Amino acid sequence: MDMNQQYILAERPKGMPDNTHLVLTEAPMPTPGDGEVLLRTIYLSLDPYMRGRMNAGTSYARNVDLGDVMTGRTVSEVITSNSSTWTPGDIVVSDNGWQRYAVARADGLVRLDPEEAPISTAVGVMGMPGFTAYVGLLDLAQPKAGETVVVSAAAGAVGQVVGQLAKMKGCYVVGVAGAPDKCDYVVREYGFDACVNYKDDDFEAQLAAACPNGIDVYFENVGGRVFDAVMDLVNDFARIPVCGRIAHYNMTSLPEGRDRLIPFMGKVLVKRLMLRGFIQSDHHDRLPDFRKDMSQWIQQGKIRYQEDIVDGFENTVSAFQGLLQGANRGKLVVRVGDDPTLSAD
Ligand code: NAP
Repeated sequence: MDMNQQYILAERPKGMPDNTHLVLTEAPMPTPGDGEVLLRTIYLSLDPYMRGRMNAGTSYARNVDLGDVMTGRTVSEVITSNSSTWTPGDIVVSDNGWQRYAVARADGLVRLDPEEAPISTAVGVMGMPGFTAYVGLLDLAQPKAGETVVVSAAAGAVGQVVGQLAKMKGCYVVGVAGAPDKCDYVVREYGFDACVNYKDDDFEAQLAAACPNGIDVYFENVGGRVFDAVMDLVNDFARIPVCGRIAHYNMTSLPEGRDRLIPFMGKVLVKRLMLRGFIQSDHHDRLPDFRKDMSQWIQQGKIRYQEDIVDGFENTVSAFQGLLQGANRGKLVVRVGDDPTLSAD
């Protein structure tokens, strides 16, 4: 292949992003310099935070400039190496972004051993989403045996791990998800005690029935209707790690209606709630513990995971749209090119 292919952020989306905002273009194949390697993308991780990176301004991290390649974590194969650390064929975790090939500094890569785990899990249960669940639940919420833990986006990359960790801690776990098959899956496969579909008309009543002892920990992934329903059920001293608010990522204006800040702050005070916004990258000192614990738990069958692998780089935008609408079943990853660790079987 003589040319590279890349998704460029051509226009900032208002609402749902599409192929007019993220444009597939061809570019010359990059050439590695001294101390650099040429990487071929095998898996591209698609994550909700990417929606925020398409906006103007700065959030907790720098957003993507117009005309730049869309950012993203990748699993890649070393094709050419100008470094003694890497040889062609090595598999690494990198930040290639939405493109087939990229040049990277040799010292910024993480080596993967395909014998240890399927390499796609390095951007899933063994990577950023798994780590987010680990620090958000175990370090920040600190659930105790017997407590009720509710997690939203329960069947997704982060939520599926949160619920299983809470079960390991001896908690009563209730998931919230947007489809009956997702709810069935987390109860059947991961041992959640219950799961409620927030798209049902009587969702609020179903959640109350599923949480007869109130809610001690709410792992907040979505905001919107789910957050409102949870707030009606929180116990004194409930802990709420605020991980994400995906229901609001495509919003173009604030919702109509009454200002809810005053009653909300009243509840925070009266119930002595602890809300803790967090970004996983602030907690990287815990990565060694996470890697050790999670690989053990997976080997022991204590943590299981579902991946949603979409084939074809040309399907990246539609897959990302699906993520923002609940189409994914588990951690969403695009297989951009052949996975040599699979074809070797
Ligand atoms: P995911 O759950 O695998 O996929 C996103 C899911 O969000 C969709 O499948 C959909 O599931 C749900 N969703 C979409 N629109 C929704 C809406 N309007 N209302 C309620 N649910 C909706 O994604 P993930 O990677 O695990 O991320 C989950 C959350 O964690 C996101 O908010 C993300 O931004 C956040 N996050 C934060 C950090 C951090 O460091 N703070 C790190 C990673 C992820 P349903 O079918 O259930 O609707």
